[in-house]
Amino acid sequence: MSRSLAVVGAGISGLALAWAALRENPDLRVHLFEGRSRPGGAIESRREGGLVLEGGPDSMITDKPAGLQLCRDLGLESLLQPTNEDDRRAMVVRDGRLVPIPEGFRLLAPTRLIPFLLTPVLSPLGKLRIGLDLFLPRRRDPGDETLAGFVGRRLGREALERMAQPLVGGIYGGDAERLSLQATMPRFLEMERKHGSVILGLLAGMRAHRRAGERTAAPAGPRYGLFVSLEGGIQTLVERLVDVLPPGSLRTGLAVDRIEPEPGGWRLRSPGFEERFDAVALAMPGWSAARLTGFDPILSNRLASIRYSSSAAVNLVFRRPQIPGRINSFGFVVPRIENRVLLACTYASVKYAGRAPEGQVILRAFSGGAGREADVDRPPEELLEDLLGDLRDLLGIRGTPLKVWSARHERVMPQYELGHLDLVAEIQDRASRHPGLFLAGNGFRGVGIPDCVAQARQAGVRAAGYLGALARDLGKTGKS
Ligand SMILES: Cc1cc2nc3c(=O)[nH]c(=O)nc-3n(C[C@H](O)[C@H](O)[C@H](O)COP(=O)(O)OP(=O)(O)OC[C@H]3O[C@@H](n4cnc5c(N)ncnc54)[C@H](O)[C@@H]3O)c2cc1C
Repeated sequence: MSRSLAVVGAGISGLALAWAALRENPDLRVHLFEGRSRPGGAIESRREGGLVLEGGPDSMITDKPAGLQLCRDLGLESLLQPTNEDDRRAMVVRDGRLVPIPEGFRLLAPTRLIPFLLTPVLSPLGKLRIGLDLFLPRRRDPGDETLAGFVGRRLGREALERMAQPLVGGIYGGDAERLSLQATMPRFLEMERKHGSVILGLLAGMRAHRRAGERTAAPAGPRYGLFVSLEGGIQTLVERLVDVLPPGSLRTGLAVDRIEPEPGGWRLRSPGFEERFDAVALAMPGWSAARLTGFDPILSNRLASIRYSSSAAVNLVFRRPQIPGRINSFGFVVPRIENRVLLACTYASVKYAGRAPEGQVILRAFSGGAGREADVDRPPEELLEDLLGDLRDLLGIRGTPLKVWSARHERVMPQYELGHLDLVAEIQDRASRHPGLFLAGNGFRGVGIPDCVAQARQAGVRAAGYLGALARDLGKTGKS
């Protein structure tokens, strides 16, 4: 008899996990349960009136291969969309003005001297302080350190406040004073360990990359930039995953309340629903998984201790003449010390071609994040007014948008705080004591889509392996 797997949560993690388990063993019975009325979780694209709007993620990074690989495995390669090559640059707000991020600046530190020396983003003193990175000794303590602690120590307060906080903190919707360097940006830690300096580490990395590029012939097929999307938006990936699942395997509108271990399997419950499975995978935020895992209070407690931040992504469609001046970048970030509600703004229809009808521009305005949740807890119309106020100040936008779509993400972005990797190891250890229980989701080892996909694929393969072994054992004992 074929073995059964319940996957709870149909965001990208749950969908990729179910797909990977079935790929490993097509005979499995896989059922996905999603509390909301639609699959995708944080991913939601809307297509209307010639517009493609993204409520959540709009891109996948290409230097982590799992996202691209999944698209290829699903036959979506022809729909991959590179970013617009002409305008691949970003800006940062300094004293209420938009200033280009200097060429060669890699999240924390510069790799090119002249643009760095000329940029008005940093003061002369701030630049000198960044240069000290070349001479400062390595840190000896091997323990974890906050992102702010690391950047402040190596590159100075100004580099932290003006660049690292808006660029790196923005990825996590997080507070650099609390984020763990080991869990978020381990490669910078590695640079300090190996080269004694972030700047020297970045330069060495670039040289190695160039040498590798010279050695290997250009790969066949299309070359993408650092980010890609899919035609029709990232939801195309969700739709394809749902399409390839056996019909009837996804059940939406069913939030699972409880899971209980029982001999040889698991019982899932929620009001009016009860079903038994041989294995269960939880692919949801830690706080939600904590509610389901009351059978192991330590596991539940540890899952609950991962903090999540809330944010809002507001799509605003304008007629081109409403936005004065040239729009020749992908958008801008706003450092917290600028004291605005707006955290970042992407020029979505510049970043990806074909997303808006001729003469219209899509802006995506972000707000909220760790410590700033109050901004997105207010009535949507108040938040919109504040965001429009910031956009008017910074871009000189005139009039009201043609269309607005606000997507609110409540407790979606995990905060990998100090000690996060130890916490994850503890969670995994606890979960491994329960045969047939698997965990996935953005709360553990990476928040980006490729990270979620990579972790989910591994969990799916492990679940299929477990169920295969279970079927063999039961076959030997003659039980069904
Ligand atoms: C605004 C925003 C922009 C982002 N931009 C990018 C980007 O450009 N590129 C990138 O790579 N990443 C980006 N990210 C991060 C990335 O989108 C997420 O980390 C990822 O999509 C999370 O997927 P997930 O499946 O792990 O979790 P989720 O998407 O949160 O899905 C979990 C699902 O589980 C369901 N669920 C929870 N509890 C239960 C229950 N008890 N029963 C049934 N169902 C349940 C939820 O309803 C949800 O659908 C962004 C995130 C946000 C919020």
